[in-house]
Amino acid sequence: MTYVVGLTGGIGSGKSTIAELFAELGVPVIDADLVARQVVEKGSPLLAEIAAHFGPEILLEDGALNRAALREKIFANETQKHWLNQLLHPAIRHEMLRQLAAQQAPYCIFMVPLLIENNLTALCQRVLVVDVSEQTQMTRASKRDNNQLALIKNIMQSQVSRSERLQHADDVINNDVDLSESLPQLKQKVLDLHHLYLQLAEKFNEQ
Ligand code: ATP
Repeated sequence: MTYVVGLTGGIGSGKSTIAELFAELGVPVIDADLVARQVVEKGSPLLAEIAAHFGPEILLEDGALNRAALREKIFANETQKHWLNQLLHPAIRHEMLRQLAAQQAPYCIFMVPLLIENNLTALCQRVLVVDVSEQTQMTRASKRDNNQLALIKNIMQSQVSRSERLQHADDVINNDVDLSESLPQLKQKVLDLHHLYLQLAEKFNEQ
């Protein structure tokens, strides 16, 4: 069984950046956001169920999900939002478990923005937190998302605090450092963790 390292961090903390460094070492990365999109991809039974419930207007012309239209349907409508979540959450969880179980590598990185908020730490043997100051989060996320600072602040409010996230961490990567100067240090840190995880994975599979 593959050893699962949950990788989390707040918006704009650098999860994708760090996941990429693990991927460069040949470690498989399972991206929870991607899984959430895969379960409702064009032609999927779940998307058909959603379209049957909300009407074909939640589909784009090519049959893919029109996310904006669906968001509008559930916006300010708790009943519909609940209906959708009841359908999606178990399906996403099931697909995550399926993808984790299919891994052949000694360990994998399971990248989940809301790992702690959604209690997905239960699916992990270890938790790696990418940690940055709130100021860095705002600077980097707003630079990436065209300065939508109010939206970014809202998202940060909906996520666990930096200190609570750190309480769940087995390992922490501090990503406040600027990549232009510190890529070699970050790569070294990832390499050290890689060796640790290979050891832990071996012990885990001996049990
Ligand atoms: P989200 O959950 O919001 O999608 P994330 O945690 O996956 O974000 P990234 O997409 O990796 O974060 O990083 C956010 C932005 O900050 C990106 O534009 C990325 O290039 C930049 N970035 C990440 N780490 C650093 C760093 N150490 N120095 C400079 N820029 C960085």
